[in-house]
Amino acid sequence: MSAPVSPRLEALVDFARELYGSADFIPLHAPRFAGNEKQYLLDCIDSTFVSSVGAYVDCFEAMMREITGAQYAVATMNGTAALHMALILAGVTDGDEVITQPLTFVATCNAISYQRAHPVFVDVDRLTLGLSPAALSDFLSEHAERRDAGCYNRTSGRRIAACVPMHTFGLPCDVDALNTICAEWGIALIEDAAESLGSYVGERHTGAIGRLGAFSFNGNKTVTCGGGGCIVTNDERLGKLGKHLTTTAKQAHPWAFSHDQVGYNYRLPNLNAALACAQLEQLPDILANKRETAARYATFCAANDVKFVAEPSGTRSNYWLNAVLLEDEAERDAFLAYSNGLGVMTRPVWQLMQTMPAFALAQCGPLPNAEWLAERLVNLPSSVRL
Ligand SMILES: *Cc1c(COP(=O)(O)O)cnc(C)c1O
Repeated sequence: MSAPVSPRLEALVDFARELYGSADFIPLHAPRFAGNEKQYLLDCIDSTFVSSVGAYVDCFEAMMREITGAQYAVATMNGTAALHMALILAGVTDGDEVITQPLTFVATCNAISYQRAHPVFVDVDRLTLGLSPAALSDFLSEHAERRDAGCYNRTSGRRIAACVPMHTFGLPCDVDALNTICAEWGIALIEDAAESLGSYVGERHTGAIGRLGAFSFNGNKTVTCGGGGCIVTNDERLGKLGKHLTTTAKQAHPWAFSHDQVGYNYRLPNLNAALACAQLEQLPDILANKRETAARYATFCAANDVKFVAEPSGTRSNYWLNAVLLEDEAERDAFLAYSNGLGVMTRPVWQLMQTMPAFALAQCGPLPNAEWLAERLVNLPSSVRL
């Protein structure tokens, strides 16, 4: 038997069930295909263009440029591949360091590892759940120095090549302040925008603010195409190189196969791009629907003494996953057992990266906020409501 939960948390589970108007299992985030998905998929099959070349890939990239305002968009087979390629494009290589947040999905750190680079963990802000500009600034002042060849970590002797903040659950982090700090230190800023399609800082779309941004279209994200990703940038050289490297570095020619360097087969199949186009057409409706759900949770929480995690001021969140902050780890665990036991799916935030075997040797700044949040954050059902 699990520990009892307080009446306010029992009421929260009832409320989630009411929101979704269902007596069945309520998932955390289910995809919904309510537009042209079937038509575009059939069109792909009829055209025989189901693989890595096709009109939907071009359409998807054009839609991503339009949505994010970035000048270049490169489709990839998933968000992890997009992040990996963004790191390559930023010049991250063997033995470099990449500063990121410990509160993230493991893909951020996996992508860093694929480049044989080392993640370094700096704390997050409690309000944004994203990398803290103050903590980044403190870490760099304490450990870094600028040399002609870039920014170096005096403690490890390694180059700090990039910084990868993440827009947690769609809440935009303070990317402007991070950008300023990274510019001062000569560090490339790459946004892990996997969760933040449709999230804005002021008028600017997340992912298109730093040097490069990476999006995911995995099955559980705000918009899905089965599996897919996208790199965005305003840098012409990087945009073109990104397309080239993700498509096997093949030189354009009507029939000859010539590749000018080691490239990657990170292409998004046209089938998946077709799904993505149909989903992106519905993005405004999806975002409005999710915003309304978040507002309802927020109202319930305000009236029932539960801390709802709201978008930071000056930003607009896509509210990919709604989140609440419980009193402590014991209350969190009791709530997780209670809600999941009743078929209302909830989950804790990811295990902090520096506590996982693969990243246990990473250098860390002080991480009090990440540790505090990791004990208390719980995600609530957040699918689009019918
Ligand atoms: C989903 C996600 C990714 C990776 O995306 P995939 O498409 O699953 O490879 C990367 N970073 C974060 C923060 C994510 O949530």
